[in-house]
Amino acid sequence: MFLRAARLGKVVLHIGLAMVQGARHEHGEALEVAAAQLNQAVTVHPLRTAEDVTGSLDALVLPGGESTTMRLATASGGLLDALFTWMESHPDRPVLGTCAGAILMAMPGEGRTAFLDVDVERNGWGRQRRSFEGDVDVSLDCPAPSTSVGDARSTLEGHIALPVGGQETSSEAMHGVFIRAPRFTDEPRRGEVIARLEGEPVGVLDGARLALTCHPELTQDRRFHRWLLAQAASAKGGR
Ligand code: GLN
Repeated sequence: MFLRAARLGKVVLHIGLAMVQGARHEHGEALEVAAAQLNQAVTVHPLRTAEDVTGSLDALVLPGGESTTMRLATASGGLLDALFTWMESHPDRPVLGTCAGAILMAMPGEGRTAFLDVDVERNGWGRQRRSFEGDVDVSLDCPAPSTSVGDARSTLEGHIALPVGGQETSSEAMHGVFIRAPRFTDEPRRGEVIARLEGEPVGVLDGARLALTCHPELTQDRRFHRWLLAQAASAKGGR
């Protein structure tokens, strides 16, 4: 099932979107808008079963949710296992993990080497009522939008994405939405910090893996989705 087929006659990027929990439809919308901003043709593939995770995917998005529920919900179908195996097989293909997605990348579970070498604490700021929004400093090399497009609603599988707020205002500042967010308890041992909240790391990039403890898909800031598409295009160009 596809969100949006090729429209510009260029190489089409195939982006896998894990459909376990969380703001997955908003990620679908963010990918669609980022693609339009870059004049890049994309097809977003909702991933529900292990069989959906194929070698033809150029990139992956791991949305938030509850990481424990995500592990349980996918245990029988093997979706998470398939996603981790895909990540191990294709280290050059980019992955964007948000919130619980970041937890899974840093703690994939027994028998797996962590995809990001950073300590992360679940619900590190406290439970639901300690969710908050804050100004995040971002330093990420990603392409600027080449076209001005409206933030059209995605209808991935007929689902209307939530209304969102938080415009992309500058290349350094981002409106961070933290929902029962995990917390990086230290600087990463590998890679770099690309986003900070009052000095502490909230975004880590290592090679083609980017993990954020906040939710850019719940704002209108599309830079991380543009980064994903640009990385995917360059990795695909090299194949
Ligand atoms: N608290 C969640 C967890 O531990 C993450 C929350 C989120 O993804 N918004 O998995």
